[in-house]
Amino acid sequence: MASPKSDVHSSSVTNTGRHLLFIDGVWAEPMEGGFFPIVNPATEQVIGEAAAATAPDVDKAVKAARRAFAGGWGKSSGASRAVYLRAMAARIMERKEELARLEVADNGKPLPEALWDIDDVAGCFSMYADLAEALDQRQNEPLALPDDRFKTVLRHEPVGVAAQIIPWNYPLLMAAWKVAPALAAGATIVLKPSELTPLTAIELGNIANDVGLPKGVLNVLTGFGGPAGASLVAHPDVDKVAFTGSVPTGSKIMMKAAEDIKTVSLELGGKSPFLVFDDADVENAVEWVMFGIFWNQGQVCSATSRLLVQDKIAPKLYARLAEEAAKIKIGDGFEDGTLLGPLVSKSQYDKVVAAVDRGRKDGVKLLTGGNRPANLNTGYFLEPTVFVDVPTDHPLWREEVFGPVLAARTFHDEAEAVALANDSTFGLAAAVMSKDKGRCARVAEALEAGIVWINCSQPTFLQAPWGGVKKSGIGRELGHWGLENYLEVKQVTSYESDDAWGWYIKSGN
Ligand code: ADP
Repeated sequence: MASPKSDVHSSSVTNTGRHLLFIDGVWAEPMEGGFFPIVNPATEQVIGEAAAATAPDVDKAVKAARRAFAGGWGKSSGASRAVYLRAMAARIMERKEELARLEVADNGKPLPEALWDIDDVAGCFSMYADLAEALDQRQNEPLALPDDRFKTVLRHEPVGVAAQIIPWNYPLLMAAWKVAPALAAGATIVLKPSELTPLTAIELGNIANDVGLPKGVLNVLTGFGGPAGASLVAHPDVDKVAFTGSVPTGSKIMMKAAEDIKTVSLELGGKSPFLVFDDADVENAVEWVMFGIFWNQGQVCSATSRLLVQDKIAPKLYARLAEEAAKIKIGDGFEDGTLLGPLVSKSQYDKVVAAVDRGRKDGVKLLTGGNRPANLNTGYFLEPTVFVDVPTDHPLWREEVFGPVLAARTFHDEAEAVALANDSTFGLAAAVMSKDKGRCARVAEALEAGIVWINCSQPTFLQAPWGGVKKSGIGRELGHWGLENYLEVKQVTSYESDDAWGWYIKSGN
């Protein structure tokens, strides 16, 4: 049985139906949790219902994943797994428009961004198909030892059952970043999408069946963080937990996983700085600064949400930024020309508005935005918002807002800029803009971050490592680093000499 057909071919999506849990290759009713509504954040209308998994569903899904792992997937060749990954990539591209429409209805992002996401989703499955094949070539690779009586070879074996818990900002792309490398490695999966955006992860279940992925290799449990996510992390038969989301939830997950010594990888929040030096081109700087904070409504873990501008260029840059930010077209992601959609949910909207209101109340200078657009009474819309001269001890400067809200301040010289940039508990990304290549290289080296962009912000390539330092997480996703998250390395060491070892039993005795 497939998940119900939705009306995704209409200009927008109004009814996607009632969605079940994908366990062991079939769609199953939730045992205890019932269903929860799926809301379009642009219209505030309910566009479907998803099953709320609870502990008994989690147990069923983990057992299915374990059976699939032991039943052959865990021992299959990378080349055979690559066939499924490529087929999934092809199916995703066949359904590109439809999946993008579901993403817009569920998350609110503008359609061109969603289409771009789906290209990346397919690209991610294709890249990990290549890496799955390459993995076969790495099996039993010899390791040079200082003692030629011994020989060591290395095996790269899948971790087992992986629990993958993902957020709502890039619903299908975040699923792909975790599902594709795990499949490539030979792990089996229980995926839990965010309760705010379950629709495209559900379709991943249908896609798995379309390509004949063995039953139980991928299971998709929709549901809430509490009952579904927490019982998945706590399940004794889960070997690895991969999480993308907020720092407090990541911390809870890590503590729970520690009880059973489960491996964790965490991709958490950020408050990434963007440093613009006096010699930068103002138009270019304004373009990238806006892309760094308004793209995806600022709901991006790597959003460059702290702007540091060298004092000489600041007046001009602020003036142009205010002008351009006010021109950004806000609206339903299905409308042509929309560049800023709604925030994902009422609760996210309330959180972001509370952060803006706090800034106002504390007298932080508002350069532009800060309000609901006058023409949009329905939907969780907020204008692109920029505060300037933000004190370094203010929450707007220190805490992740996860919305289209930029906090800016000026700096005098390079040393001050780097010190201000690094004065954060986060360390996911950072950007620097200057015509001086030497300075860019120096600053890139000095910045405490897992990702540094020079003369740009946010471009993300599937081949490059993604992840942060400090409270921004543990480990790296994407590229071959993403594959290693789902592999354990095993050394197989043999004694190759004909001579007796001779420790206890001496020769000649
Ligand atoms: P947000 O508050 O913005 O939704 P979270 O980090 O809480 O961000 O959520 C990211 C993902 O983590 C979602 O899929 C959510 O359901 C899940 N989640 C939330 N709390 C827990 C928890 N205690 N254990 C496991 N997963 C959780």
